[in-house]
Amino acid sequence: MSKKAIDIKNLNVRYGQNTALSDINLTVEEGDFLGIIGPNGGGKSTLLKAMLGLVNISGGEITVYGKPRNARKAKIGYVPQFAMMDKHFPITVFEVVLTGRLCGKLAPFYGYSKADLKIADDVIERIGISHLSKRRISQLSGGEFQKMLIARALAQQPKVLLLDEPTASVDTSSRRQISALLDEISNTMTIIFVTHDLLAVSSHVKSLACLNTTLVYHGEPQLTEQVVDSLYDCPVDLIAHGVPHRVLGEHKGGR
Ligand code: ADP
Ligand code: MG
Repeated sequence: MSKKAIDIKNLNVRYGQNTALSDINLTVEEGDFLGIIGPNGGGKSTLLKAMLGLVNISGGEITVYGKPRNARKAKIGYVPQFAMMDKHFPITVFEVVLTGRLCGKLAPFYGYSKADLKIADDVIERIGISHLSKRRISQLSGGEFQKMLIARALAQQPKVLLLDEPTASVDTSSRRQISALLDEISNTMTIIFVTHDLLAVSSHVKSLACLNTTLVYHGEPQLTEQVVDSLYDCPVDLIAHGVPHRVLGEHKGGR
């Protein structure tokens, strides 16, 4: 029987008067590879942050492997949409990846063990950035920086990996590499990622969610025309990106 990695019931998140998420019910099974799409401001980043406990929820419940919010930190790796990191800080790729071993703990005098160093080395190799290990982060391209953030998240050895638009500001070849990496990683853990990259959504994910304050769709990555017709904002976003057919599968008639 499959396990529930993340279970969200009747979730509401508000920022002041503004409702970012309304009555979300979403179950993510262990081993799923879930792509989340939706218009800007649709609450995609907020949903990931809610899973991580980074925003207050005003109603509902989120459990991770059956346990409530607070117990789950080490199990979820996170690649944020906007890394709150000073890119000119004199720190190397290896040192950044190693901070993944802190697993969210604020531990100023934490001494890394030999095992921590080995884990950081191993994930750097797995991600294919060994040649960058000693490089300062100020000298990385957008794609290299993003791969480093994925390596840092993997250094936590999470059961679930959340990524917020991991290919948004990278060049085409890095985008392909990152997509291939996610494919490979998806064989070993549950992945949930927000994306604008519809090629990545249509050809890689196992399931798709469409979010516009409410969860408009959750299911197979092939949206049928009927489903699309019942959605409004999401297909607008899809069509605006010019490759609706990849996601829509069978598509009769012009649109
Ligand atoms: P998306 O990632 O889909 O673009 P977000 O989750 O970032 O959407 O935002 C959802 C809504 O919540 C938007 O209306 C946004 O303006 C608002 N919002 C997001 N973060 C904050 C915040 N820290 N304070 C107030 N409003 C926020
Ligand atoms: Mg966002």
